[in-house]
Amino acid sequence: MNPKHPLEQFIETFVPLVARKHKQLYKAYWLLETTGSADASDLKADLDTELRLLFSDDDVYKKLLIWNEDTSLTDPLLKRQLNVLIRTFKQNLIPRALLEEIAQKEALLSQAYANFRPKFEGKLLSENEVRNLLKTERDPSRRKKVWAASKEVGEILAPQILAVVALRNQLAKALGYPDYFQMQLDLQEVDQKWLWSTLDDLATHSDAAYTDVLNQIEKQQAQRFGVTKEDLGPWAWSDPFCQEDPLDNEGLDSLVQGVDIPLASTNFYQKMGIDVRPILERSDMFEKQGKSQHAFCINVDRDKDVRTLNNVQSSIKWLETVLHELGHAVYELGLDQKLPWLLREPPHMISTEAMALIAGRQAYRYEALCQLIGYSKDKEAFMKQADLSLKRRQLIFSRWVLVMSYFERELYRDPQQDLNQLWWQMVHKYQKIPVPQGRHGKNDWAAKYHIALAPVYYFSYLLGEMFASAIEEVLLKETGSQGLASEAAGQLLQQKLFYPGNSMSWDALVQHVTKQSLNANAWLRQFA
Ligand SMILES: [Zn+2]
Repeated sequence: MNPKHPLEQFIETFVPLVARKHKQLYKAYWLLETTGSADASDLKADLDTELRLLFSDDDVYKKLLIWNEDTSLTDPLLKRQLNVLIRTFKQNLIPRALLEEIAQKEALLSQAYANFRPKFEGKLLSENEVRNLLKTERDPSRRKKVWAASKEVGEILAPQILAVVALRNQLAKALGYPDYFQMQLDLQEVDQKWLWSTLDDLATHSDAAYTDVLNQIEKQQAQRFGVTKEDLGPWAWSDPFCQEDPLDNEGLDSLVQGVDIPLASTNFYQKMGIDVRPILERSDMFEKQGKSQHAFCINVDRDKDVRTLNNVQSSIKWLETVLHELGHAVYELGLDQKLPWLLREPPHMISTEAMALIAGRQAYRYEALCQLIGYSKDKEAFMKQADLSLKRRQLIFSRWVLVMSYFERELYRDPQQDLNQLWWQMVHKYQKIPVPQGRHGKNDWAAKYHIALAPVYYFSYLLGEMFASAIEEVLLKETGSQGLASEAAGQLLQQKLFYPGNSMSWDALVQHVTKQSLNANAWLRQFA
């Protein structure tokens, strides 16, 4: 047997340190997100820095680059681990003080978002309460007030976010990149030219379909609120960013009345041959004080400890979200457990989003709905509406991703510009929503959590939707149905999509699953 390559020896001693720190960090993150505690916030910032410091040794980085040129290194898994190490080291080779400052500022922002409650008519509202008001309130002036209250967090946090943006750019420049956005794309193995041409392609070819949907929405909402189309404003939608379908909300929500959403989801995944009960036992499912108001999934130890956070209420949106987060979770648990620790993760958010998004789509598909909530004659009309809503949702959400992606690119390119004006320009261009009066000089862009704390991520949702549609076409061809509720579908996804983990790049994985490179065609066929 050949003697071990020095890279292998390095991995044997280095990775256990990383794995341990990673697990501690993710536990602190979980504590912070479930409680909003200041102690957890401090702990998370410290551990984040400690983990990054493990990857900040310049001498090790130089050795990695030398090994990268070594032609005797042929084992594909070893080469892929080296690729992951190089990309991770690269972004952490910056002064310790800068790393610490970013981690601390992000932890404070995270706490601020978790604890923010907009004030409306003397009462503090949760995000769910804001959405519920926007879903049901008919009085346009009250709608406008709730909407405006939900933007106040941007006003409060914009200076702190801009400080973090400046530090992120400083970090990128230190590593030789023009800005943080371009650095992140490079480190995520996403080709910039390809990304923008793919997004432009989708925008162009779905423009007419989106305009139809928008006309439909404007007509119905103008009638519903008794105003002219011109007076509708962004508060005419059912969420503060006009990123969701505002039509038929009450009817669709009535479908899940009395439905135990975690139980319905468990039974649904059972049809794929997957038991999600151990995940739900570790998860935090319902609203409470101080807890993050969003939803996410984390893999704490890259072993069995996978958890989801939700704030479940009786709405179709929460059925979708629970299914979505469980989609991430089953992907994580489906990774080949024999893969080396460094490769036991999805290659990019695109592939895990694709799974989560397919799972979420089930909440709107007639066939899947029958399984999720049970068929009954009096529900049938709304169940059929859900399919139409899915199409609207896809078109609406794609426009929202375009706003976020192009705004973020410009934010990092030039953070000094009038960002609020840029924000509303993007909203007008892609969502085609007129700029309301009185927003000049505000910081509406900063009200969106992801700008501050999930940077250079949003485009992954839309690429994930494209991949999801391509996978659904594969499912249809291979199993006879594009639906998930069969063991054949479960096995196909398990073997093709989850199992390889990060042993290949995300674009190679797309090829592996769909036999073609990622493009918007399947998505356009389905929704535009
Ligand atoms: Zn997701």
